[in-house]
Amino acid sequence: MTNLPIRPDLRGLEPYGAPQLDVPHLLNVNENPYEPTPEVEAAITAAVTDVVHTLNRYPDREFAGLRADLAAYLAAESGVRGLGVENIWAANGSNEVMLHLFQAFGGPGRVALSFTPTYSMYPEYARDTFTAWVTAERNADHTLDADTVIARMRAERPALVLLASPNNPTGTALSVAAIEEIAAAARTTGPEGAASVVVVDEAYAEFRREGTGSALELLARHPHLVVTRTMSKAFAFAGVRLGYLAAAPQVVDVLRIVRLPYHLSAVTQAVARAALAHAGGLQAQVAELRGARDDLAAWLGENGFTTVDSDANFILFGEFEDRHAVWQGLLDRGVLIRETGPERYLRVSVGTGEQMAAFRTALLEVTGR
Ligand code: PMP
Repeated sequence: MTNLPIRPDLRGLEPYGAPQLDVPHLLNVNENPYEPTPEVEAAITAAVTDVVHTLNRYPDREFAGLRADLAAYLAAESGVRGLGVENIWAANGSNEVMLHLFQAFGGPGRVALSFTPTYSMYPEYARDTFTAWVTAERNADHTLDADTVIARMRAERPALVLLASPNNPTGTALSVAAIEEIAAAARTTGPEGAASVVVVDEAYAEFRREGTGSALELLARHPHLVVTRTMSKAFAFAGVRLGYLAAAPQVVDVLRIVRLPYHLSAVTQAVARAALAHAGGLQAQVAELRGARDDLAAWLGENGFTTVDSDANFILFGEFEDRHAVWQGLLDRGVLIRETGPERYLRVSVGTGEQMAAFRTALLEVTGR
């Protein structure tokens, strides 16, 4: 059919997504490389069995049990007290959480502001909600200063400011002090004298280095600050699709208006709660991945590559005359990484010891070092 009334701004566009290829070493979408342990697998299976007989009914629309568990997890992970059910929202991946934020606070005539290079899905939420997408560049060393952000906020009057910390694809985190300055300024930088909603995307927060804080510490003082998280990365739960946020109850209340009813299935709620009950066991694995990240950065440096300091479970490295040729050479050797970020750079996720060894061997071969 040739005369579909496709929205003019969608004509000719390709769907978002990294290649999903069947190769031995998948290091391209920042997943946790470890499958659930037998203990977690048993708990998840039991949780599904428990919920099966209820599947003729719609799930708990407010997912109160899951929200309470997420609040408890955040308190344990960050040491921040005082978060309750009313502060938590969740959806099918932080992708959907972010879309809810755009649906509630963006829209025609409104601006969302971010700093590039950053997560490449952000402009799609803006497009899908008819929100103007405005960006400014991060510093040449991939950091971002509060002053730069605040100056752009005053100029653009954004309803939403998106700050990924650690940032994807650079791995760079913002300091809590910088976020606090930005959140304080945001009280009056939004449309028509309103505040800007400052969204700190902490998808990779659990991998942050010693000394890097979380924006969760600031929530009690800044009612228009939102901190998003996900179970896709540190939690090794990308296949489940469970993202969430912590914010003031007033923010959560607005998101309840725009969500589809019953957006989190009973199965999703049950398996997420089962995994959260085993969160303690994840700490050792996350610590190991952090160590593997630091080893990889050191190895890349020793072999003459430039790396960007990373607080996440991936590393941006370069520089390559022809990065596509390097990406393809690695793929030919069974190692899939991501061609993203600044020209001349590539991004690799931290995998198992075996995967990292395969990556190192392939990279030396491809680059002739
Ligand atoms: N934010 C950032 C910065 C990401 O890199 C990703 C995933 N690549 C997401 C959000 C979305 O993750 P999910 O929808 O799986 O929670």
